[in-house]
Formats: sequence, C-alpha cells, structure tokens
Amino acid sequence: MLQLRRWTIGWFLAACVLVVPALAEEHEHICRYCGQDHSLMFAAATESGDMGLKYAPDRVVDVKHIKIDVVPDFAKRTVAGTTTLTFAPISKPVEQVTLDAESLDVSNIESSVPLADYVLTDHKLTLLFATPLPVGEDVEVAITYSAEPKQGLYFRTPELGYPEEDTHLWTQGQTHEAPHWFPCFDYPNERSTTEVICTVPKEMVVVSNGKMLSDEVNEQGLKTVHWLQDKPHASYLVCLVAGKFHVLEDKHRDVSLRFFAQPTLAEHAANSFQDTRTIMEFYEAEIGMPFPWDKYDQATIRDFNSGGMENTTITTLTHTTIFSDETENIYSSRNLDAHEMAHQWFGDYVTCEDWAHLWLNEGFATYYTHLYAGHKLGRDEMNYGLWRDAKGRVLPQAEDSKPIVFRGYDNPWEQFDYRAYPKGSWVLHMLRSQLGKDLYRAGIKHYLEENGQSSVVTADLQAAFEEVSGRELDRFFDQWVFGAGTPKLKVRYKWLAKERLALVTVEQTHKVDDNTGLFEIPTTLRFVVDGKPVDHPVTINKEKHDFYVPLDEQPTLVRFDPEFTVLAEVDFDKPDAMVYTQLEAEDDMIGRLMAARVLGKKDNHKSVEALKETLNNDGYYGVRIERPSRSKSSAPTKRLPR
Ligand SMILES: [Zn+2]
Ligand SMILES: [Zn+2]
Repeated sequence: MLQLRRWTIGWFLAACVLVVPALAEEHEHICRYCGQDHSLMFAAATESGDMGLKYAPDRVVDVKHIKIDVVPDFAKRTVAGTTTLTFAPISKPVEQVTLDAESLDVSNIESSVPLADYVLTDHKLTLLFATPLPVGEDVEVAITYSAEPKQGLYFRTPELGYPEEDTHLWTQGQTHEAPHWFPCFDYPNERSTTEVICTVPKEMVVVSNGKMLSDEVNEQGLKTVHWLQDKPHASYLVCLVAGKFHVLEDKHRDVSLRFFAQPTLAEHAANSFQDTRTIMEFYEAEIGMPFPWDKYDQATIRDFNSGGMENTTITTLTHTTIFSDETENIYSSRNLDAHEMAHQWFGDYVTCEDWAHLWLNEGFATYYTHLYAGHKLGRDEMNYGLWRDAKGRVLPQAEDSKPIVFRGYDNPWEQFDYRAYPKGSWVLHMLRSQLGKDLYRAGIKHYLEENGQSSVVTADLQAAFEEVSGRELDRFFDQWVFGAGTPKLKVRYKWLAKERLALVTVEQTHKVDDNTGLFEIPTTLRFVVDGKPVDHPVTINKEKHDFYVPLDEQPTLVRFDPEFTVLAEVDFDKPDAMVYTQLEAEDDMIGRLMAARVLGKKDNHKSVEALKETLNNDGYYGVRIERPSRSKSSAPTKRLPR
C-alpha cells in the first residue's frame, strides 16, 4: 500500500491538466489526446487472439494495489465512491492505460503524475498521461464514480420483495463482473493487493477480503469498515458483502472461521457450518500447506446466482445450502463447503491464468471434495462420487471434440462445464493413482510452493509433477487435458484350460481422429483364484492387446481396473457366474455397482432375484439405489458450485 503522492505543479509543465471532467459521449473510441483510434491497441483486459481463439491479454502495467472506498445506497440500489489504483509500467514507458469499467459514471480523476485526459466508454476507461510513465515507477490514480450496477454488485432489499430484516448486498466478480462496481484490469493473469472500505447503516455488517483494519461508527450513525487483503489476488476474487446478518464463529488453529446467514434463516445455519473446521484440518494435512490466508468467512446470499463463489477469504453461498434438522439425513452442505474451501488454495492462491486453463481451479475443487468425502465417510463414498461423475457427466460426452484446455469458446462461462469440473477431477485422480499418494502429494505441494500467489497454466502443474517424480508426463497431459474425449474399452476374458492361462483381450474401440487418439492406460487385471486376488499390472497403449496370464486355477472372478483408476467406458462382457460373484464382493463397491448394472439389463429370473437381494441388502446406499436398466447417473441435478 502506498500513500497517494500528489502531483505538484513545479514538477511538470504547468499546462498539464491534473483533474479533468468526464467525457460525455459513450462508445467513444477516438482519442481526444492524439485523434487516433486506440480501441484495439490499448484494450486493457480484452481477450486477444485470431480465429476466435481466446488468450489472456498482455499486461502493459503491473497493477500493484487497488483501494476501493464505496458507499452503497440500498434504497436506490446504487453505489458511489473512489477507487485508487497503484500501478507501474512493466517493460516500456506507457503513455496510456486502459482499465475495464462497465457503465461507471466517472465524475473525477486524480493522479500522482499529470494526466492529460481520459476517455470513458460503456466498457473502458482510458487514462492519457501528459508524459510517458517510466518503467517500474509507481503511479496512483484515484477515480471517483457512481454506478447503478446491473451485474457485479447485487442488492436484496424489501423493494425487491425480500424481508426487511434480511437486507443485504454482495458482489460477484467471476468471470468479468468486477468492473461493474470498480475500475480495474479485469483478467486473472493480473494480481494485486486490495483494500475495501465500505460505509453502511450502523446495524449492518461489512465483510470483505483479508483482515479487518477498523470498524467505526460516525456521528451520523453510519458505520465504516475497512478491510485489507495484503497478499495479491485476482480482481474477480475481490468481494464485498454488507447487510443484516446473523453470525456463527469457530476457529481452526489461529484461523477465524465465520458463517454469516440471513437473520430469518439463522435458526438452521449451524447445520451448514458443521463441517467447515474439519474440512480445513483435512485440507491442510492432505495438501501439505497451511490455509494460505488471514481468515475464512462464508456468507449465504438470498437467491444467489450459482451454488457458491470462492472469493478470497470470503465465500458466498446460495441460501438454499441452509437446511433444517428434519432434512439433515437427505441434504448436506458438505460438498459445497468442501468445494469452495478447496478453491482457497486452488483458484485463489494459485489462479488459472486464463479461462482455457479453468480446470486448474474447478478440477481441483471437485477432486478435493471427493477426497474429503473419502476421508470423512470412507473410500466407497469417494469412489461413488467419482463413479457418478464418470457415468453421469463425463463419459456421455466421449464424442465431444473439445479438450479440457480449450480456446475456442465465445463466452468464458462455456468453460465451466463437465471438462473443467468432473473430467478435471478425474485427471487428478488418475495422476494420484499412477504416481501413488505420497508422490502425488509431493507434486501438489511443490506446485503450490513454486506458483503461490501467481497465475498458473497446465504446464506449471505438469512441471511440478515431473520434478518430484522424474516421470515424463507429456503423453498423459496430451491425451487427457489437451486432447478431447475418453477411451472406450472392450474387454473379453477366456480361460485356456490346457495351458492354464487366462486370456484377457482389451481393445480401444472409440473413434480415433485429430482430437482423440489412442490412449496409454496403465491399470491392473485382477483374478480371484481360490478366494485370493492375483493382480497383474498392464499398460494399454495399442488398439488391441492380448494379455496371457498364467494362473494356478481357473479364476472365479476377473476384474479390469479393480481400483477404479481409469476414466473409460468399459464394456466387459463376462460369464454370468462371475457377475454373481462380483455382485457379492464385499470389498469391491464399484464392482458390485457394475454387476448390478449388468444384471439390471437382463430379464431372466435368476438375475432379477439376485438384483432384488442386492437392492434390499447391499451395505452401500449407492448400490442399493441402483435401478435396473438405468443408464444415467442417479445423482440429482444441482446447480454447479463455481
Ligand atoms: Zn492517443
Ligand atoms: Zn468451483
């Protein structure tokens, strides 16, 4: 943080104008300074690229600090204030700086160096400096404005039909809404420390990023709360929540944990807060890095526009995450809580450089939610989450030509689909399965330590894993992250009695084209012989393999990928006797699920009886709720957490 260094007239030409009035015309692109059209050359955070491909924009200046000082008007649903940006040119002197500013009504600009002019459009604010700004020298510009935000900052007030005692506002930055309430360089390849100062009626609370510096009530009965986020983060993670809230408090080590809820929902708020501390404990141990920020708050929002949003140190959540005691056994906030908190490391501490690499945020949040479920409720719960993701969301999209890292989107929201979330999660699960838990954890820790407080691309993650493991992972990332689709595998088994050999044939039967090639898949064939498992590791990398495995006796069961480590549609047509054996394998929940699914498609008497027994008595609820002939996941459709 820097104090504003006022420009004094003796330093520069007296003709320079320090404070200039706003330009009235909207959609203005012609520079009043030199008469040229700079709309393309200087667009601040507009994604660049030919052929419709999207890339992060160049950074002309390094934005070091953003100080936002605002006063909301709850009755008018407007906001007014001053945002002060501190920035310095990165590699060459800069005469103009363009900021993202969505329909901000700018009334005044002050600068620490002489400003010649500025150009305001509906989407951008271009600052024209009297002389080029030298490389590396900090400049401060204070922009005073008002706004009636249609995005970015939202009100929930009695005028909109909400209970008066629940009145609140919140901000939503992702993907590009932040400039609707403060001017900034709005792209995740830029990070700044931030400050939020907000003045509200004294009965309200104000929550924002980082640590609270002060909370004072003035003579007019207005409260001003001052927050500082002193580790840099992306502009889309800046958040302000203000209004009437009920608060619950907890603590993990010295990290304050709070849960803010609408007063009318406060009665049941504790249900949705109950896992937060244990999730943080688990993540610190699993990730190998302490919670990287000052505190962790969650706030419910009435009619939130998604499930949750992982703003740095202040997650916003849909109010529907609060559930009453009566529904507790069928409803839980656990997954949403775990998803958003995982983002504090993956998304906030390291942030995808552009939306093409979004899976580095969402794949991690999805996978660590499964890891927490496994930690809390056991391995079956984790595998069942992976199963539902695979069967219900990823494998049905096997023919999609879009890879996880994809630049051909029109709107960044198109990236927030099955590729970033469950497929990204599966990529991590396959890495963990192939490297082993310890090496995987070492890779994750290395990735965070090398890239903390900066933006990341997939190559950063790959490099971290390669450095700790010595493995070359180009093929792995090419096929799963930069290539599209998922493998379809046809598996067949035959017992060669005379030779005492099991023959397992594996074919890759998916369509191979420019987007999707043959996959390299290390996995295991498991034979149950005389009640004992015999594991045979294999690597599939050709169109067809014949694996001959010598065994003492004919196996009673053959399993392909018994540890559930491969994202693939597996068609394994095995003898009925084996399917019945598999349906009763107590330590193999995924095997039982698969067997139930196979039997559900048959209509003979024996299958129906066996399935009936399973649906009534299986030890795991996911198997019990498996329905005959169901091909879709039984997972309920819910709004995605962000
Ligand atoms: Zn110009
Ligand atoms: Zn998310």
